Amino acid sequence: MAAQILDGKSLAAATRAVLKDRVAALVQRGVRPGLTVVIAGDDPASKVYVRNKTVAAREIGVRSELVELPGTVAEKDLLERVAALNVDREVHGILVQLPLPRQINAARVLESIAPAKDVDGFHEANLGALMAGRPGVVPCTPLGCMRLIEHAGVQIAGRHAVVIGRSNIVGKPVAHLLLQKDATVTICHSKTPKIESITRQADILVAAVGRAKLVTAEMVKPGACVIDVGVNRLPDGKLAGDVDFESVKHVAGWITPVPGGVGPMTIAMLLENCLGAAARKSAP
Ligand code: NAP
Repeated sequence: MAAQILDGKSLAAATRAVLKDRVAALVQRGVRPGLTVVIAGDDPASKVYVRNKTVAAREIGVRSELVELPGTVAEKDLLERVAALNVDREVHGILVQLPLPRQINAARVLESIAPAKDVDGFHEANLGALMAGRPGVVPCTPLGCMRLIEHAGVQIAGRHAVVIGRSNIVGKPVAHLLLQKDATVTICHSKTPKIESITRQADILVAAVGRAKLVTAEMVKPGACVIDVGVNRLPDGKLAGDVDFESVKHVAGWITPVPGGVGPMTIAMLLENCLGAAARKSAP
């Protein structure tokens, strides 16, 4: 039987509709949530991403500003911009788009964002809170993966979840979120031998690698929930995930498409994080 397609586009649209009402309620309390996105350089993919984020924010009534800096910007100047945003009372969320130009130490910039305004959830304080199971801002893509799994009604507690990829922005946080929901979690990476023998045990399989169609049907347990985080550009210009969708959809129980799966949820979760930051700031 063919897998159920987890439609991230429609779940994200439904989420944004709920968030729009929350913005209206905040505005009634005198708070207009504000998001500032900072981009340095001319990377075409990054430009599309930041545009999508600012447009989505505006559509739900969030005041959103795009700060565009040249690729030659000095780290000191970027840090000064972030410092100014940190103390700007109208800005509740700050996002610095990655990758940053080579002369800039990305970690230093991410650590300079006030943790309460770090709507990407990449600050060590937020990543540490996630690991410790304490309140903090959770990275958007991992949060989006969890929403897709939960919305589908897939059981997490007691199941074996396998995450391929161990980056700080996707693999590790999604593994922690699955662990928090009582899954037994295995993390695989580029040095994992016989990866297919592990992925075949997965009730929930999250691929966050960046290698087109790495996960094939033979690597998937029948009936598994397969979440594809990967975004890869094929030689013909088309987008492909880390999962070979056409073959895996015949084996999996649930599967996310690329595009239209995790991607739209990432933006919806960014908006949710921004509203959370605004609500905390305005709490009596
Ligand atoms: P990353 O930092 O490059 O991490 C990739 C991970 O995959 C690393 O842990 C690496 O292992 C592992 N890996 C590489 N080759 C492997 C292989 N052959 N077998 C098993 N593991 C392998 O990437 P990322 O930032 O986590 O992003 C992953 C993918 O998600 C990319 O395609 C990215 O574009 C996409 N993404 C999508 C969204 C979205 O909103 N849809 C958001 C963020 C990222 P090592 O640690 O051993 O090197």
